[in-house]
Amino acid sequence: MSGLEASLVRLQDERLAATLRVQSTVLKAIHDFMTSREFVQLMPIITSRVTDPLWPDPGASIIGRPKINYNGQELVLTQSMILHKQLALITGLERIYIMSPNIRFEKPARGATGRHLFEFTQMDFEMAHATMKDVMSLVEDLIIYTLKRVHEERKEELELLGREVRIPSKPFKVYTTHEIEEKYGSDWEIKASMDHKEPFWVTCFKREFYDREDPDNPGHYRNYDLIYPEGYGEALSGGEREWEYERIIARMKRDGLNPENFKEYIEAAKRGLLVPSAGAGLGVERFVRYIVGAKHIGDIQPFRRVPGEPVYL
Ligand code: AMP
Ligand code: MG
Repeated sequence: MSGLEASLVRLQDERLAATLRVQSTVLKAIHDFMTSREFVQLMPIITSRVTDPLWPDPGASIIGRPKINYNGQELVLTQSMILHKQLALITGLERIYIMSPNIRFEKPARGATGRHLFEFTQMDFEMAHATMKDVMSLVEDLIIYTLKRVHEERKEELELLGREVRIPSKPFKVYTTHEIEEKYGSDWEIKASMDHKEPFWVTCFKREFYDREDPDNPGHYRNYDLIYPEGYGEALSGGEREWEYERIIARMKRDGLNPENFKEYIEAAKRGLLVPSAGAGLGVERFVRYIVGAKHIGDIQPFRRVPGEPVYL
């Protein structure tokens, strides 16, 4: 069977339709939850002057940064809206979220992980003047609320998919990266995930400049990942943010990034416009994959965007 034929056959699979019904409930539940907590939804952007460098991140593996040329200007495609989330808080809105499509040219070999796409959507949110505790508590409520909605509203679909929703209880377990590496080794994500029955947190990652280094404990970071159980791996990444000009410049220099490449963002920081905030991005397809128990994240997409696979539809 050709790739195109296989893609057309896949579209006729009742399991795909059931998965998409579940996804629709997930999206509705996320919107209901976020608006009930007074978040304002913004529209995503796909093109900009600058995007998330995704570096340094122990989990990153992009092989290029997608660019397009429009009207004499070179624009990058969104890898994440983190910098624009910080800029959007300048409006005075205190709580924002965006269903944000991200293009990431992941290494083709990542197609085999079961959890990587080269085009996916984040539910990306940011809260002014919030702490990591605020975000972690909110995310726990969001996950529990959404799982309950799916459990109540998608019984038929879950039965067809042979999956039961397990509703975790709050608060989720928290590890530091130091503790989890000690227990599972440096390659801990999937091992630790398989060893748990409920989602759990990992805090303190040395990664991109915008995640806040603990001022009281340099070398430690006020950021976090949520990890799904049963081997599904990372669900969400976030952190408290750096907002002060000097600290941002120092972090960029440490990472070998040229502040000149971020000059519009830096200009906002220099003028003192950025506000302290914390937030996170939840991968929507990964959430749906976990809920329906799909073997591969590409299996939940009607139009697969899997690293290393040709695109047919
Ligand atoms: P990041 O800030 O890079 O960790 O991205 C935020 C979230 O988006 C992650 O925690 C994942 O849930 C999701 N995500 C990141 N990269 C991918 C990818 N290549 N394919 C699917 N989902 C992803
Ligand atoms: Mg991450």
